[in-house]
Amino acid sequence: MTIATDTDAGAQTGTGIQISGVSKSFALRGGKSLLALQDTDLHTDKGSFLALLGPSGCGKSTILRILAALEHPSTGTALVDGESPDQMRAASELGIAFQDHALLPWRSVRKNIELPFEVAGKPVDKDYVDELIALVGLKDFASAKPAQLSGGMRQRASIARALVLKPSVLLLDEPFGALDDMTRQNLNLELLRIWTEKPATTLLVTHGISEAIFLADRVAVMSPRPGRVKEIIEIDLPRPRTPEMMRTPEFHAYVDRASELLFGSDGRAEAEA
Ligand code: ATP
Repeated sequence: MTIATDTDAGAQTGTGIQISGVSKSFALRGGKSLLALQDTDLHTDKGSFLALLGPSGCGKSTILRILAALEHPSTGTALVDGESPDQMRAASELGIAFQDHALLPWRSVRKNIELPFEVAGKPVDKDYVDELIALVGLKDFASAKPAQLSGGMRQRASIARALVLKPSVLLLDEPFGALDDMTRQNLNLELLRIWTEKPATTLLVTHGISEAIFLADRVAVMSPRPGRVKEIIEIDLPRPRTPEMMRTPEFHAYVDRASELLFGSDGRAEAEA
């Protein structure tokens, strides 16, 4: 097991995700403000899979939203492949999927997956849409409306939509968070398969320790608010990953390490500052 205390991967090359000294405060009512992130550094290599773990409210989604150009840092810089998130978004290089699938209820699966082409003003690549629909296992449901799908199927459609413009960066905020354990495990396996076929620099925000270790090349563990990256755990498990790996001593050692960072050796989580 490798524990890297620095957050330097990719820092030399300038590619991948480069978050340097990022703080973010939100203005609250009555002139008060809330410091969500403080001096956060996070660097990943292009094409790698990074999972972000941390206590509720530590700023995981805020990091993801900054990378998605939905928020801007108060101080510090966030770059992806040397470009700002706004530039990446304008160039359709960002694919985003949230816990709430956000599919349009009146459009079919196919029409939902085609939507990013319309928003970007580009002609729909029908062949690629077909390929993605098959890749996420929704061939027989391409004409169905979201209400006719299961929760897992909706999330698969939402991931296909995130991939349709061939983004170089995939931002996933608890995409399977609302699903039962079994569906979630199956979808994680599918996500790995999709990621292997359509490689993208991926950031996954999750509360699932095992899920983070199973999927990622590196797991960043954050401190309570104001959040900063406490430690990066390099996951040296071979790929392709298989569910059997979750029962190995190596896997359990990673889970123990991440749990200790999150909950302390006495099992009690560190309090917010
Ligand atoms: P969870 O795991 O519970 O989803 P998180 O780690 O993703 O939490 P964030 O959603 O990033 O945490 O929120 C970090 C902190 O910033 C929280 O205290 C939250 O209340 C606050 N916050 C986030 N967005 C805003 C906003 N738009 N206005 C005010 N406060 C905000």
